[in-house]
Amino acid sequence: MPEQLRDNYGRKLDYVRLAITDRCNLRCFYCMPSCGIKFVERDELLSYEELERLIGILGGMGVHKVRITGGEPLVRRGAMEFMERIPKISGVQSLHLTTNGTLTLPHIPRLAQLGLASVNISLDALDEDRFFKITKRKGLQAVLESVSRFADAGIPTKLNMVVMAGYNDEDISAMAALARDRDLEIRFIEEMPFNGKSHEHQLYWDHRKLRDHLFAHFPELRAKDREANSTSQMYSAPKWQGSVGIIAAFSRTFCGTCNRLRITPTGMLKTCLYDDGVLDLREILRNGSSDAQIEQAIRTAAAHKPKDGFEAELNRTSHAVSESMATIGG
Ligand code: SAM
Ligand code: SF4
Repeated sequence: MPEQLRDNYGRKLDYVRLAITDRCNLRCFYCMPSCGIKFVERDELLSYEELERLIGILGGMGVHKVRITGGEPLVRRGAMEFMERIPKISGVQSLHLTTNGTLTLPHIPRLAQLGLASVNISLDALDEDRFFKITKRKGLQAVLESVSRFADAGIPTKLNMVVMAGYNDEDISAMAALARDRDLEIRFIEEMPFNGKSHEHQLYWDHRKLRDHLFAHFPELRAKDREANSTSQMYSAPKWQGSVGIIAAFSRTFCGTCNRLRITPTGMLKTCLYDDGVLDLREILRNGSSDAQIEQAIRTAAAHKPKDGFEAELNRTSHAVSESMATIGG
């Protein structure tokens, strides 16, 4: 039996989020500036072979849940073929995808075929104009169509909405009503400062305001028991098909049970969303290190996972939190 990867607090780390590109076909203003960011060159990205080697090493350490994210993962050539290979890697128990849903429609049968365990789709508005104002692109209909087709394909689907005053306030209750009428999980996320310096971060919709707003519109809602390692507090009601939840991503109320590792498109290991990278995996993948040496380096870095996002932020050696979420993976 492999020795389960754990940190010095005894937390089991069994979930890795791989951002396979920093590029994206949308320009959500809370994530990156409208002119984009300085995208990394192809040879700076971890290759699919390097990613597969890493997934295998992690799988051998009990990191059995893999999420593919980005940027927009489907803009990277070969992403589908890569995802098809992941479930065959030893140690992988489930594969998940986070996407903006604008490019997924033609791939849904293949995603179902490869055994995708779930999909998280980012959707911040249910109105074309507001969708455009946030993403600077068109595409709402393609996202809505994808949401329906994922359900038809039997792939559990969560919708994630970043809530921003003045941009999508009126969509909060409309999105929640979707979860009342359909078997969907809708999660409202506090905005974080990871926006590539596209604008000043000011949080209005914090988790308390969001909860009060939901209860004012849907007094029938009741808190559900929190699932282990979950970042969201979920709510539902007897006559609801689905559920709604709140992710206190900026208030960071959930760090105590965090089980996640992140790997950026350039191969930087992050043990917390708020750290600035703790191990350059690309360097050790490319300098001839053995799998055993890479495993040891990961174990040492993971052991020092900070207690919470506040400690991680304090430990940063570079600039303040302002990088684009597309370079981290969300
Ligand atoms: N492009 C894909 C998507 O949009 O789902 C995957 C990458 S995106 C960076 C992952 C998640 O990060 C999305 O749910 C997005 O809404 C969220 N995100 C990006 N910037 C954020 C910010 N500043 N605050 C909170 N969430 C953010
Ligand atoms: Fe692209 Fe996702 Fe960032 Fe929007 S949130 S710009 S879809 S990476």
